[in-house]
Amino acid sequence: MQMLVLGAGQLARMMALVAAPLDIHIRAYDVTTKQVLHPVTGERYEQSLEQAIEASDRITAEFEHVPTDVLALCEQSGKLFPSKKAIECGGDRAKEKALLDAAGVPSAPYVLVTERRHLEQAISELGLPLVIKTCQAGYDGKGQWRLKSAEQTDDIWQEMQAFLDKDVAHSIICEKMIPFDREVSVIGARDIQGNVKVYPVTENEHTNGVLTLSVAGIVNQDIQAQAVDAYYKVAEALDYVGVLAIEFFEVNGELLVNEIAPRVHNSGHWTQQGTYCCQFENHVRAVAGLPMGSTDLLYPSAMINVLGQDAIPHQILATTGVRSHWYGKKVKPGRKMGHINVSAGTLHELGKRLNELSEHLSEQDYPGVKARAKQLV
Ligand code: ATP
Ligand code: MG
Ligand code: MG
Repeated sequence: MQMLVLGAGQLARMMALVAAPLDIHIRAYDVTTKQVLHPVTGERYEQSLEQAIEASDRITAEFEHVPTDVLALCEQSGKLFPSKKAIECGGDRAKEKALLDAAGVPSAPYVLVTERRHLEQAISELGLPLVIKTCQAGYDGKGQWRLKSAEQTDDIWQEMQAFLDKDVAHSIICEKMIPFDREVSVIGARDIQGNVKVYPVTENEHTNGVLTLSVAGIVNQDIQAQAVDAYYKVAEALDYVGVLAIEFFEVNGELLVNEIAPRVHNSGHWTQQGTYCCQFENHVRAVAGLPMGSTDLLYPSAMINVLGQDAIPHQILATTGVRSHWYGKKVKPGRKMGHINVSAGTLHELGKRLNELSEHLSEQDYPGVKARAKQLV
C-alpha cells in the first residue's frame, strides 16, 4: 500500500519507520516547499501533489495547519483519513471550542476576540490572568500572550491586532488561566469501523510552552476513566479515523480539556517502547484499514525531548531501557531535534533509570528530569 502524509517532519518520519514492516510505503508532502519527499532519507520525488494523490491508496496528515486547498484536494479523492473537517477542527481553536461545547466535554472557559471590546469583555468575564492564543496558527506555545495586569491591555491588544490585520488569524481566543495541578494527555486510535483503543494517560511537563518530559503509568483509574470518556465523545463527534490526542489540565481531580491534536502527538512518543503497538503504527493501521494493535502498557515509561541540541549525549545509551530517536533536522535554538525514551519494570525502577541518565543531562537543557526521578524513586 502507498500512503501519502501531509507534512514532512519527524512525525511523518516515525510513521514511515513503522509502516515499512507492514508493507506500507510512505511519501511525505512538504506543504511549505510543495515537494514530495521520502520522510526518512529526505530524497525528493519528481511528483506534483496531484500525482502523489493519484499514486496513493490512503492519505493522512502529521499536523493540523495544512492549507485548506490541499486538504480539499485530498478529501475529493476519498482517500483522506481523518477527514478535512477533523483536521481543521484541531487547527482552529474556535472550531475546537465549538466541538467540545457541543460534545459536552469541559474545557477552559473562553471568549473569542475579533475586536477590542471582546478583550475587555474577556477581562471582566474571565478575570486576570488570561491566556491569549491565536485561533488559526501556533504550536509549541507560539502565537500566545499572557495578560497578567490591566496595564498590559493596550500593548497586548496592539500585538493581537497586528495578527488579525495580517490575516494570520481571523480570531483570537482568551482563556481563563487555569491553576492546574498537573497536565495530562490521552492518545487513542479509532478505525474506520468505529472501534476505539486508548493508551494509558500520560503526565506532561512543559517548559516555556514546549513539552519537555512525559511519564506514562502513573495516573489513577479515575483520571484514566475521565480521559477515556472525553476521548470517545470527541472521536465520535468528529467521526475520527486515526490517532487523536487530547491535552488536559487536571484541577482538583477533574479534567478540563486544553486542546485536541488531530494526529500523532509528542506526548505519545513513549508508546514506541512502552507498548506493543506504538501510536505511529496504530495511526498507520487505522488509516490503512488494518486491525489496530494493543494499547496496553507494557512498562512504565518516560520520554524526554531533546531541544536545540546537535546530538543526544551518547553516554545515556548505556543506561538499561533507554533508546534514542533522532529526527535528522537542522539544529535551531529550542527546536525539537529528537527524543529519549526510557522504560522499566516498575515506577521505582523507572525513577532509578531516569536518575542514572539524568547524570548526563544538564538541568538547563533537560528541565524537570532530575526532580521527576526523585519523585518516582
Ligand atoms: P502544542 O505544541 O501542544 O500544540 P500549543 O502552541 O497549541 O502547543 P497550548 O497547548 O494551547 O499551545 O499551550 C501551551 C502550554 O501553555 C500548555 O501546555 C499549558 O502549559 C499552558 N497553557 C495553555 N493554556 C492555558 C490555560 N488556559 N491555563 C493555564 N495554562 C495554559
Ligand atoms: Mg496545539
Ligand atoms: Mg498543547
